[in-house]
Amino acid sequence: FRHLSSKKLSAWKIERWLIHTVLVFSVIMTTAVVYSFLGKDPNSYWLTQNVFLIGVGVLLSVIFAVVMLFKRDELGKDAKYGAIAYFITIAALIILYYTGTTEKVFLIKSGHLRSAYGLYIGSLFSGVIGTGFYPILGNRVWCRFGCPMAAILGFQQRMFSKFRITTNGGQCISCGNCSTYCEMGIDVRAYAQKGENIVRSSCVGCGICAAVCPRGVLKLENGSMEGRINSNEILLGNDVDLMELVNKR
Ligand code: SF4
Ligand code: SF4
Repeated sequence: FRHLSSKKLSAWKIERWLIHTVLVFSVIMTTAVVYSFLGKDPNSYWLTQNVFLIGVGVLLSVIFAVVMLFKRDELGKDAKYGAIAYFITIAALIILYYTGTTEKVFLIKSGHLRSAYGLYIGSLFSGVIGTGFYPILGNRVWCRFGCPMAAILGFQQRMFSKFRITTNGGQCISCGNCSTYCEMGIDVRAYAQKGENIVRSSCVGCGICAAVCPRGVLKLENGSMEGRINSNEILLGNDVDLMELVNKR
């Protein structure tokens, strides 16, 4: 089903919104569920509900501060959305801090919340969407649209990884093999035509695109972080007027 992974721009936009929303939701819900198992009395437990919430808040704040200080450029425009996600999560933790009790979280009975979470998220969302939609949306539908780990690994790939796929646009014959075979719905051909490195959060580095390219255009490479993201640079695309490019420089 790999060819069924949509390469449309709209699919990419939905994917980005959905997967990061799922990440925020899962952080909040996991915290709420763990919270519901903890006690309140500091004389009986070293890890109380409040200590746990404060710990989660501090951990998220440290990660957020480090990323914004040192990795903001890699995030580019997405830094703004990262900040919104951070503040939504912290707001949820504050609400939980002031409204949560041993019996209730977010004003819902803990037992109800846990069983509903197990049924709707654990079974229906991850079970039905995760595997049942393979024949409709391709066999990476869960990785693309539903997995919170994919969002975390995507951040890692974007900010810390030295990995990239380099492209030699001048050799590309636009056959489209690479895009057809990419399970993650990345339009590899569009990058290849522009001679632009592929550095996408959703790329899992499987190397299939490079393996199926009949012209050896694509190469999986490790190198320094510098120059890894070259989105403004057009080297040798089929759609580029070289004389115009030379004159501009
Ligand atoms: S290496 Fe990345 S771009 Fe290439 S096929 Fe795999 S997921 Fe797609
Ligand atoms: S498979 Fe190779 S030649 Fe074909 S479109 Fe992709 S990069 Fe270009």
